Amino acid sequence: MIIVFMGPPGAGKGTQAQILQENLRIPKLSTGDMLRAAIAAGSEVGKVAEELMKNGNLVPDEVVVGIIKERISQQDCANGFILDGFPRTINQAQALDKMLKDNNLIVDKVICLELDAEIIVARQAGRRVAPKSGCVYHLEHNPPKVAGKCDVSGEELMQRDDDKADVVRHRLGIYDNTVKPILEYYDEQGLLNKVAGDQTVDQVKQQIMSIIEQK
Ligand code: ADP
Ligand code: ADP
Repeated sequence: MIIVFMGPPGAGKGTQAQILQENLRIPKLSTGDMLRAAIAAGSEVGKVAEELMKNGNLVPDEVVVGIIKERISQQDCANGFILDGFPRTINQAQALDKMLKDNNLIVDKVICLELDAEIIVARQAGRRVAPKSGCVYHLEHNPPKVAGKCDVSGEELMQRDDDKADVVRHRLGIYDNTVKPILEYYDEQGLLNKVAGDQTVDQVKQQIMSIIEQK
């Protein structure tokens, strides 16, 4: 099963992809997490991505497509995977289909989480992340068991540089300018499922599970 999560920054993609990863036992592949890891490691990809990400701009298609191509060829992706934050441009969507086709695979479901701009900015202000485990928390809506520490890894939680309100608004603008053709592309193939993101984490999860269970 290959599942694509779409939606504006802060819609809950990472949170839901993490829950689905545990339920379906297939890995969540977050290009944002992979790029942040590349920056932390000081790799070539990290050097290209750093300034762009800090300012909320997209990393070039060939860079993210390369990362995903390499990642999905690994053994733990053999039974499927969940894409969180990829594709983000129509070029990336087409590149994904091409690499899947080369392996006789297709995207099975696309889930787009929808959320209004005001809620997004408020959510991002409270977001805290665990860089190593990839877990996402919120100071009010989804706090960790011990303040400031990840439930899974125990590592110190941090706030992302690009979660400041002005950068969030810029990222939101980019999303609005790029998302339409991708949604149309998946809708034409009958793959698109929209889910309202302004429900509790558990309600969103229930709706996603019923979409996954549909044939
Ligand atoms: P969010 O969870 O808030 O939507 P992500 O962690 O997915 O944010 O992405 C953070 C940043 O990483 C983006 O603003 C962009 O700079 C970069 N990025 C992540 N995925 C992609 C992608 N598929 N294409 C281009 N840039 C990406
Ligand atoms: P995305 O990956 O789409 O950028 P995240 O999963 O990182 O979104 O969620 C953004 C912030 O909102 C995080 O702090 C997360 O804990 C919180 N969050 C996620 N889902 C919900 C929800 N349904 N209700 C309230 N807060 C949520």
